[in-house]
Amino acid sequence: MRKPIIAANWKMHKTVAEAVAFIQALKGKLPDSNQVDSVICMPAISLFAGVKEAKETGIKIGAQNMYFEKAGAFTGEISPIMLEDLSVSYVILGHSERRGIFQESNEMIQKKVMAAYLHHLIPIVCCGESLAEHEMGKTNEIVKNQVLSAFSACTKEQVTRSVIAYEPIWAIGTGKSSSAADADETCGYIRSVIEERFGTDAAEKIRIQYGGSVKPDNISEYIKKENIDGALVGGASLEPESFLQLLEAGKQ
Ligand code: 13P
Repeated sequence: MRKPIIAANWKMHKTVAEAVAFIQALKGKLPDSNQVDSVICMPAISLFAGVKEAKETGIKIGAQNMYFEKAGAFTGEISPIMLEDLSVSYVILGHSERRGIFQESNEMIQKKVMAAYLHHLIPIVCCGESLAEHEMGKTNEIVKNQVLSAFSACTKEQVTRSVIAYEPIWAIGTGKSSSAADADETCGYIRSVIEERFGTDAAEKIRIQYGGSVKPDNISEYIKKENIDGALVGGASLEPESFLQLLEAGKQ
């Protein structure tokens, strides 16, 4: 049985004070961490305060990106060592906004995935097709390529501990979510890709989230599905009440 994982992706929202106030508003209301993993991926500038505030709440903190080098002349970047030093638990890698707006390649994402393992961070590896690719029936081809590339240098054990987020680009921030049946089919396909490359055990254990216009009123449809183990949520994760409802619905 895979434990569900509900992760907020705040993207470029909230100041440090707002991030801290958000966590304070969750205290005493969070579901049992044995039933669901509750994760908040916040802007890098809030990570230090976020980890501190989340201590002993059961909430795990994640970053939204990082560079793969340990240190050096990479102006504006954040290294895996810095995240590890703050006791950050997760890092989103290869989000479609990183791939699209910031031109991150599969090759770069693969290096970041390896750097995450090296520094005890759990990668949430994103994959997903554009609307044009979706309409051309290329979804499986795209996600297979992204997933196999991201994990190409990983051991079976590393893959087993990872999280994949299937996020069709056309469903992100559009209010146009994929149907639960379609999302489940693609997540099942991703699982079969993992099985083929890394074996049945890894495929059974790896957690695969759906992301794209997930809200408190539709999350249950996804969570119920066999191959969907949680959600990566943008807009609906920005208010404490809404995030708590997502976590509640995500419980095992
Ligand atoms: P929305 O939930 O706002 O559609 O964003 C999804 C997403 O990109 C999460 O990473």
